[in-house]
Amino acid sequence: MVFTISHSLREAVLDAIAVVLPIACAGCDDDGRALCSGCRGQLQPHPFARPLDDGTPVWAALAYDSVVRRAILGLKEKGRTDVARALAVPLRSAVSCFMLHAGSSAAGTVELAIPPVNRASFRRRGYDPVRLLARAAGLPQPVSVLINLHERASQKTLGRAQRALNLVGSMAPTRPLHGRRFLVLDDVVTTGATLAEVIRSLRDGGAEVLGAAVLAATPRRSLGLSSELKISRDIDA
Ligand SMILES: [Zn+2]
Repeated sequence: MVFTISHSLREAVLDAIAVVLPIACAGCDDDGRALCSGCRGQLQPHPFARPLDDGTPVWAALAYDSVVRRAILGLKEKGRTDVARALAVPLRSAVSCFMLHAGSSAAGTVELAIPPVNRASFRRRGYDPVRLLARAAGLPQPVSVLINLHERASQKTLGRAQRALNLVGSMAPTRPLHGRRFLVLDDVVTTGATLAEVIRSLRDGGAEVLGAAVLAATPRRSLGLSSELKISRDIDA
């Protein structure tokens, strides 16, 4: 498989680079590779269903915690694009799991949609983490069919209800989407507010939305509000 060969080659190159240009593991800060073997092992996918409040199916590959959380934050907030390949594997597995469970309802053409990029976040990072992960996972290129109507206030300090309120009506389709079917991709789901708004906007445009596949999620309703709020603060758009 082409993906396996190029992946192995890249691994070898990364190891070689690490010898002359020491880097710290994005999961535990140990010197060495972008991700040490111990942390890499923590990224083994174990997909679980994490439906939204309205029942829309969402599959996540990993629980958003410890090494997973640090590696994703490395990619999103510290420019650690060198972990994208490792994180792409569980994302791909979430997509596969979603399609498997969707069965015949996923037959036919299904396009990938991602949340519209927040301009301030894009300027700060220089890349869109979800698009980068999709490319690294060898998935079809996600389409850009949504815009942010206004750059919303930072979600970091908001609670679940406030996050949802802050997002409602914040996105819109850029064109009519009648007759098109989408699976939404995202990196992390905490409260589900962003995903819900993406799905609402796609449906507003006339699209059919099968659901979403995400890299990591906080297990639904298993966290106290204070824990969820703490984790929510990690995520900026
Ligand atoms: Zn590590």
